[in-house]
Amino acid sequence: MENGKKTIFGMDKENNINFNEADIRPKDLLDGQNAAVQSDIDFLLQHRNAFVEVNCPACNSTNSEFVFEKKGISYKNCTDCSTMFVSPRPDENILSEFYRQSKNYEYWNTYIFPASEETRKKKIFVPRVERAIDLCNKYNAGKNLLLEVGAGFGTFCSLLNEKKVFNKVIGVEPTPSLADTCRKKGIEIIDKPIEEIDEIKKNTVDVIANFEVIEHLFSPDNFIRTCYELLAPDGIMITTCPNGKGFDVITLGTLSNTIDHEHLNYFNPDSLSALLEKNGFQVLEVLTPGILDADIVRNSVLEGKFDLSKQPFLKTILIDKWNEMGKPFQQFLIDNHLSSNMWIVAKKIAR
Ligand SMILES: [Zn+2]
Repeated sequence: MENGKKTIFGMDKENNINFNEADIRPKDLLDGQNAAVQSDIDFLLQHRNAFVEVNCPACNSTNSEFVFEKKGISYKNCTDCSTMFVSPRPDENILSEFYRQSKNYEYWNTYIFPASEETRKKKIFVPRVERAIDLCNKYNAGKNLLLEVGAGFGTFCSLLNEKKVFNKVIGVEPTPSLADTCRKKGIEIIDKPIEEIDEIKKNTVDVIANFEVIEHLFSPDNFIRTCYELLAPDGIMITTCPNGKGFDVITLGTLSNTIDHEHLNYFNPDSLSALLEKNGFQVLEVLTPGILDADIVRNSVLEGKFDLSKQPFLKTILIDKWNEMGKPFQQFLIDNHLSSNMWIVAKKIAR
């Protein structure tokens, strides 16, 4: 489900920290994309009467309070674990139809991914593949089979195949147009939701990677349980998603692009760790390597969408002293789990 209008994240390597949002989202394609997004939102809102109330997707608590509404969708905050989540939300049937019919995904597949692939490859996927391989090595993951859930345009799987680290790489991608694109790139694809997979035996997968997937799901709990079943004993799961306690999400609130109609779950490092542990995983490492938070908030100010005149402290960092303070401030966010993109690495503990 890689999709560039979500929080884009990359690497914390010094030489790359200067890239900014505009590099990755070609501006002249945005009008077409906006129309596609609106069509998707309309689809969801047409089904609003069938949305269902849910407990906290992380800790299952019923204690929550209303946060805000954006584009007709209501957000709540769990008062026990601070996970923000959409409730009421589209159920699994609506969601699967939503992704099947999505104009936005079709638009990305046809126009935006091809136009931006080289930039995205260099700035997002090469570092992503490197980080994933580093983490697999660090935690002694098996190298027979890696499954990527939400293979999208297939860039991660392609690059990983080139590295020849795993004997086999399989992508799971239920959106038909994206699955076709992956096949054309020679990637082995299973085009159904992971919960419905019967092609792969339980307890056999060495690594399950899922990038920006879990925030889209009706039931992250079911998803994690399914991953647990597929993974081999000591298998590794690498998950990335927005950090609901990250700087740009918290600061911009409804103005943050991360808060969009597709994202139902806004975990934070503690709440996602707890959900993984509840389902039999040991959390090995949490990272928030996103490098765009400060840039995104700064751009919102410069574009006149967000006002910092009553926040002189942030104005000093993001505007007045940007050249000196921008990078060290972003590094502070990264170092303290406060960037808006999160990686979490967990190991299956055999029960
Ligand atoms: Zn909770």
